[in-house]
Amino acid sequence: MLVLSAPSAAGKTTLLRRLMERDGTLEFSVSVTTRPPRPGERDGRDMHYVDRGRFAEMVERRELLEHATVFGNAYGTPRGPVEAALEAGRDIVADVDCQGARQLRASMGHDVVLVFVLPPSAAELRRRLVARGADEPDVMRRRLADAANELAQWQSFDYVIVNRDLGASLDGLEAILAAERLRRERQVELRGLVRTLAGDL
Ligand code: 5GP
Repeated sequence: MLVLSAPSAAGKTTLLRRLMERDGTLEFSVSVTTRPPRPGERDGRDMHYVDRGRFAEMVERRELLEHATVFGNAYGTPRGPVEAALEAGRDIVADVDCQGARQLRASMGHDVVLVFVLPPSAAELRRRLVARGADEPDVMRRRLADAANELAQWQSFDYVIVNRDLGASLDGLEAILAAERLRRERQVELRGLVRTLAGDL
């Protein structure tokens, strides 16, 4: 499971989308949230939109791998699709905040790879937030304040990408994915291969 976290408008969503275009085998972990859909978002594709009652029920039934409150709304990662993907040997990517990333590391250990995306400067982060125009001014102020808190979490992550240039960041992300796929403990077929090789020598 490849997890991306970042302060708002660091470019994480674009990076994720482009990574998935480059690597057609990646699945996306669709989060559950109590926040209303934004224009252009689709239920089940971008997020699963639920009310607070349903969210609480999912927490109660342990249907979420992690959950957190971000900007007053609840977000969580459904357990089923992640476990199904990993059991089938498929990689899944997720976009969660720093609280979620920490919970995933605690519960899943090194089945998750944590990547933190940083904006190159505060000015650039502000510019991207304004350009996106998706938020009310008070939400935007809260996002900026929260960005400062999120930044403090950078040392909990395995990798950090400073997103100066989309192409270079994407190359970095692909390199992380490639290297992590080559980790000995993830190549479950190695034992048999080595045995066969040794037998044939
Ligand atoms: P947005 O509402 O802008 O899509 O997301 C707001 C924040 O919630 C972002 O920092 C995003 O990473 C985080 N987020 C989205 N889905 C999840 C999730 O399933 N779990 C957690 N912990 N955070 C999430």
